[in-house]
Amino acid sequence: MRLFQRYAARICRLRAVFDEHLYAVVTVAIASSAAGLLAASLIASRDTLVRLIALSACGAVVYVGYRVRPKARLRRAARIGLRRGEFHVVYQPIVDTRTRHCVGVEALLRWGHPKFGAGGPGLFIGELEGTRLLSALTCFVLREANNALSQPPFPQHWHISVNICARHLMEVCFVEDICGSAGPMLERLVLELTERSCVERSPRVVTALSHMKQRGVRLSLDDFGTGFSNLDLLADFRFDYVKVDRRFLAMRGEARMQFLKSVAALVHALGAKVVVEGVETAAEHDVVQHLGIDLAQGHWHGKPMTVEQLRAFALATASINTLHDRTGTEHGA
Ligand code: C2E
Ligand code: MG
Ligand code: MG
Repeated sequence: MRLFQRYAARICRLRAVFDEHLYAVVTVAIASSAAGLLAASLIASRDTLVRLIALSACGAVVYVGYRVRPKARLRRAARIGLRRGEFHVVYQPIVDTRTRHCVGVEALLRWGHPKFGAGGPGLFIGELEGTRLLSALTCFVLREANNALSQPPFPQHWHISVNICARHLMEVCFVEDICGSAGPMLERLVLELTERSCVERSPRVVTALSHMKQRGVRLSLDDFGTGFSNLDLLADFRFDYVKVDRRFLAMRGEARMQFLKSVAALVHALGAKVVVEGVETAAEHDVVQHLGIDLAQGHWHGKPMTVEQLRAFALATASINTLHDRTGTEHGA
C-alpha cells in the first residue's frame, strides 16, 4: 500500500510536467507494483523453481523500466530546460555564391544542460520528434531570432531560416504559433521543411503552408535527396529554395558535378533557388559557383555562431562589402 501511495504521489507531481513521462512512470509503477506483489507471494512459496521464476520476472520488469526511462528522462529534462533558459540559438550565414555576400542565416538550436554540457540538435531533436515540446522549441527559436536580429547592425534584408518539425505542421495552432512568435520577422522568414514533414500531404498541411505563403513567408525544402518522394514534393508545394544535403557535395568526381548540375536545372525550371550545404573549402565554393548554384552554406563561409559572434560577423562583412563595392574587387569569405 505504501509503495502504491509513493508512486501515486510521484505521478501527481509529474502530471503537469510531461505526458509521455507520466505514461512511462505509470507503466513502470504499475508493472513494478504488480510484479512486487506477485513476487512477494511467490517468494513465500517453498518451491525453488517458483522462487526462481518470480525473481526473473522482477529482473525483467526492472530491465524494462530501465530501458523506458532514459528517453522519458531526456524529454522531461528538455521541458525543464526550456523553462530554465538552458536553450539558446546560434546562426549560420547563407551566402550568395556569386557575390559571396551574406543574404540570410539559418537559426539552429543548442542545449546547454548544466550536467551533461552543451549539445547539438543531433543529440535531442530525434528524441523530441513527435512531441509538443518540439513545437514549443520552434516558437522559442522564432522569438529569440526576432528579438536578436531585428536591430542594426543586422541587415534587415537577411532572410531568417527556421527548421520546422513534422508534428507542428499538423497541429491546428501551427499558423497562429508561427505568426505570433515570429512577430515583425515574419516577412523575412523562411520555413525549412524536410521531406518527412511534408509526407503527410493532408489538406491541413496544404492549407497551413498556403496561409504562410500568403503572409509572405518563404518555404525551403531541407536535406533534399536524403529522404523519399522528393520530386512529388517539388511538384506539390511551391518551394522558394531547395537545400541540397552536404553529402552530395562530399561526393567525388564527375558524379558530384552531374548530380548538382541536374538538381540546379530542375530546381531552376520550377522557379526556385538552390542552396548547397556543407561548403568547407574554397575549392568546394568554386565548384558550386561554377555550376550555377545560387546560395551556399557551410563552415568555409561561417560556422554556426552566437548572436554576439554574428554581430561581429555582420560588422566585418559590411565593411568588406563596402570596400568590395567601391573597388569592384573580389574577396574571400
Ligand atoms: P539542417 O537544418 O540541415 O542544418 C544544417 C546542419 O549542418 C547544422 O548542424 C550545421 O551546423 C551543419 N553544417 C553546416 N555547414 C556545415 C559544414 O560545412 N560542415 C559540416 N560538417 N556541417 C555543417 P546542426 O546545427 O547540428 O543541426 C543538425 C540538424 O538538426 C539540422 O539540420 C536540423 O534538421 C535540426 N535542427 C537544428 N535546429 C533545429 C530547430 O530549431 N528545430 C528543428 N525542428 N530542428 C532543428
Ligand atoms: Mg535546416
Ligand atoms: Mg539541411
